[in-house]
Amino acid sequence: MSPIVGVLALQGDFDAHRQRLEALGASVALVKKTDQLAEIDALVLPGGESTSFMILLGEPGLEALRRFVHTKPTFGTCAGAILLATEVEHSDQPTLGAIDVRIRRNAYGRQIDSSIREGSVGGFPTEMVFIRAPQIVRVGPDVQIIATLEGEPVAVRQGKAIAATFHPELCDDTRMHRIFLDMVRGSQAADRGEPAE
Ligand code: GLN
Repeated sequence: MSPIVGVLALQGDFDAHRQRLEALGASVALVKKTDQLAEIDALVLPGGESTSFMILLGEPGLEALRRFVHTKPTFGTCAGAILLATEVEHSDQPTLGAIDVRIRRNAYGRQIDSSIREGSVGGFPTEMVFIRAPQIVRVGPDVQIIATLEGEPVAVRQGKAIAATFHPELCDDTRMHRIFLDMVRGSQAADRGEPAE
């Protein structure tokens, strides 16, 4: 059965993710309530404002998401990447703690505040859109770097969670979403007990 990919649709640019995922053949559900988490196989946490997500989710919502992101494939972009980190620099902002990185909010200031840059995803030159982007300032030993900008990590993976500090849903390049969907399909096959490809 084809997996259902949820997109958290509380705030931010969730619809661009929906369109990109559907264009790549995925079945998408917009998630507005945490009880919908039981009906989806994977989740995208979009960009927006991470502090607003925290307020809208509340502690019970955060706890439900925490359980989800530790067991099912999740892709967080920009504010979503902040939510997935274990640590937000100079802040006691609560997070979901799925990826062992320290993240600095609004890190790039004017330099690449809302700009399009060329980075690298898995060694391929890739256009990246940054909007008040966070920066990954520490990467834990179990974290894999999957995209870089000028040698610095801008997308990382740990287990079934991927975080990107840029907005792949706003770029023409579909590589990041394809990486995520491959992980989703692989995870579903593994849950069914099929050997890895
Ligand atoms: N600056 C935002 C935050 O700290 C993230 C910006 C974005 O998602 N485009 O949450």
